[in-house]
Amino acid sequence: MEWHDGRKHYDLVYMSRVFTDSYSKDYSGTIHADHIIRGGTGYGLENYLPEEVEHTYPDYALYPKFAGTAYGFLSRGCPRGCGFCIVGDKEGRRTKAVADLAEFWNGEREIKLLDANLLACPDWERLLQQLVQSGAMVDFTQGLDVRLITPEKVEMLNKVKTKMLHFAWDNPEDDLTGYFKRFSELTTVNDYRKRRVYVLTNYNSSHEQDLYRIYTLRDMGFDPYVMVYEKPTAPPVTRKLQRWVNNKWLFRAVLDFNDFDPVGWEKRKKQKEVRNL
Ligand code: SF4
Repeated sequence: MEWHDGRKHYDLVYMSRVFTDSYSKDYSGTIHADHIIRGGTGYGLENYLPEEVEHTYPDYALYPKFAGTAYGFLSRGCPRGCGFCIVGDKEGRRTKAVADLAEFWNGEREIKLLDANLLACPDWERLLQQLVQSGAMVDFTQGLDVRLITPEKVEMLNKVKTKMLHFAWDNPEDDLTGYFKRFSELTTVNDYRKRRVYVLTNYNSSHEQDLYRIYTLRDMGFDPYVMVYEKPTAPPVTRKLQRWVNNKWLFRAVLDFNDFDPVGWEKRKKQKEVRNL
């Protein structure tokens, strides 16, 4: 297997696409092949890999830049059905175990887990145990559901070598402060830089509600990270907010959003770069 080379003819070419047109353009070059198989959400929700392929150990050699990291799903699906999310339609409204860790991990130092809602899986204990036993650094990339935290689950999470925990506070109408506080009481991960929380903006929330979630999370020792729904339609204040919060140096240096002056900051940054030349 190799990366597609436009000068060659192939029996079979696989194309993969995560996002639809609003976020990424489809490949527009010519492909010389007897067959082309297109997969991924960017091409629709009905394309699935054959079972035997789904359960084949990935060919990580295709991505030498990411050597030493394993990627995969232990579970699929999510019961929440958030209006902006395709997981329910794509993977189902129940979380179920789909693989054992050994299917995509074979001693790599790091594991990037792609599960949508692992804590909603009835097999969470067995699957977390596999992560504990791996001894690898685990990045829960897609968000753990803080509403499903229990002392038993946190006890198990505490045993996982954690690169990063991700949570989400997407709906401003949900008051999740109690859940985050409870997690803080139970966890041994006390470094805010490892406790990231996605904050969805530009989707049924006002600027004040965005700010409330950001300040509240910071005050509770979490690291908010602004996600912008349909970015091209986002108001300038939301883009400015994203710039402030997601630039971690800035977010620590400027405590109040009202004091954030992007023009002045750019100017200072340029002056600093000139001084360092
Ligand atoms: S909780 Fe997360 S994965 Fe589940 S539907 Fe909502 S956004 Fe999607």
